[in-house]
Amino acid sequence: MNFGLSAEQVAIRDQARSVATAEVATRAAKIDASAEFDWDLHQRLAELGFLGLTAPEEFGGQASNTVSWCIVVEEIARASSAVSNGITLTDGMIHYISTLGTRDQKEKYIPPLIRGEKLCSFALTEPNTGSDAASVRTTARYEGDEVILNGQKMFISGAAYADHFIVVATVDRELRHKGIRTYIVPGDAPGLVVGEKLDLMGIRGFGTSPVFFDGCRIPASNQLGGNEGFRIVMQGLDGPGRLGAASQAVGLAQAAMESALTYSLERSQFGQPIFDHQAIQFMLADMSAEIEAARLLIWNAAWRRDAGLPFTKESSHAKLFAGDMCVRNVSNALQIFGGYGYSKEYPIERFYRDAKIHQIWDGTNQIQRMIIARQLKKQTESGIL
Ligand SMILES: Cc1cc2nc3c(=O)[nH]c(=O)nc-3n(C[C@H](O)[C@H](O)[C@H](O)COP(=O)(O)OP(=O)(O)OC[C@H]3O[C@@H](n4cnc5c(N)ncnc54)[C@H](O)[C@@H]3O)c2cc1C
Repeated sequence: MNFGLSAEQVAIRDQARSVATAEVATRAAKIDASAEFDWDLHQRLAELGFLGLTAPEEFGGQASNTVSWCIVVEEIARASSAVSNGITLTDGMIHYISTLGTRDQKEKYIPPLIRGEKLCSFALTEPNTGSDAASVRTTARYEGDEVILNGQKMFISGAAYADHFIVVATVDRELRHKGIRTYIVPGDAPGLVVGEKLDLMGIRGFGTSPVFFDGCRIPASNQLGGNEGFRIVMQGLDGPGRLGAASQAVGLAQAAMESALTYSLERSQFGQPIFDHQAIQFMLADMSAEIEAARLLIWNAAWRRDAGLPFTKESSHAKLFAGDMCVRNVSNALQIFGGYGYSKEYPIERFYRDAKIHQIWDGTNQIQRMIIARQLKKQTESGIL
C-alpha cells in the first residue's frame, strides 16, 4: 500500500494551489457578491488543462486519473466553491458524453467543453422530483425523427450560462427507471426557456436556475446513449458527481481550518492568543483529523474507480463523511472567529454559506446512507462483506 502521491500528482497539486491562491481567491468574494459566473477564470482553468483532466486524449483531454482530478477540485475549492463547480460540472458532462455518446456527439460537444468555450448543464431535478430521481415527470415524445420535451427542471447549476443541457426525461412514467432517457439539448432549442437565476444562500456565482420545456423539439439523434438512461445517470453521479462534491467539501473545510488557525494565533483574549486556550486547540485538532479522514476516503474511492473496481459504496462513504464533516467544521471555524466570523469582513462567512450544499446535492446525505446500507446488504448476500 502506498499513500504517497506521484511526482505528477504533486506537481498538479502545487500548480492548482498556486493558481487558486493567486487568481481564484482574489476574485472569490466578488463572484459571490455579484452572483455572476466568471467566464475568464473558467477559461483560465481550461488553459491549465483542469477542465479536461480525465477526458480522452483524442478529444483534447489529458486522460489523467481520478485521484489527480480530485486533488485539483479540492485545491480550487479552497479558494472558491463556485469556481470549482465549473470543473466538477464540466467533468461530469464530459464523462456522460464520452461514455454514452456517438462518435459525432463526442467530436461535436467534448472539445469546446474542455477548451472552456462552452458550458453544459445537467438537468435531472424537478419541482416534484428530487431524491426519488426515477420519478422524473418531464416527458419525451417521439414524432418522426424528432423528440418533443415537456416539463420543468429545478436547481440546474450553470443553467443561466449553459450552451447545452443533458436532460433526463421519461418516455413512460409508469415504467419508472426503465422509462428514463437522456438527451443533449441545445440552449437555443425552440421551446426551452431558462428561468431567472435563483437567489441562493451559497454557491452564488454559478447561475443556478429552473429550466422550462414547452414543446421543445430536438432531433431524435440527440438522444444520449440507449435505453438504460437511469443506470447511466446513477453511475455518473457515483463518479464525478459524488467524488467531485466530496473533494469540494474537503477543500472548503481545509480553507476554513487554515483561516481559523491563523486568526486564533492573532486574536488575543484573557491576555493570550485564543489559540492557547485548549478548547480552541481541540476544535482545530478535530478539524485537522476529520479533513484528513475525508480526503483519504475520497482518494480510496477515486483509486478504486481508476483501478476498475466497484466504488459505489466508497464514493457514498466519501460524499457522506466529507459533506457532514464540512458543515460541522466550517461552523466550528466560524466559532473561532467569534462575532467577526458573522460579518462579511472575513471569507469564513462565505465559507459557512457555501458549506451547507454539501449535505444536499448529488444525493442528500440521507440518500448516501441509503446507498451505503443497500450496498452492505448486497455484499452480505453475496458473501463479500
Ligand atoms: C445549489 C444547488 C445546485 C443544484 N444543482 C443541480 C443540477 O445541476 N442538476 C440537478 O439535476 N439538480 C441539481 N440540484 C438539485 C439537488 O440535487 C436536489 O436538491 C437534491 O437531490 C435533493 O432533492 P430535493 O431538493 O427535491 O429534496 P427532497 O428529495 O424533497 O428531500 C427533502 C428532504 O427529505 C429527505 N428524504 C427524501 N427522501 C428520503 C428517504 N427516502 N429517506 C430519508 N430521507 C429522505 C432528503 O434527504 C431531504 O432532507 C441542485 C440543488 C442545489 C440546492
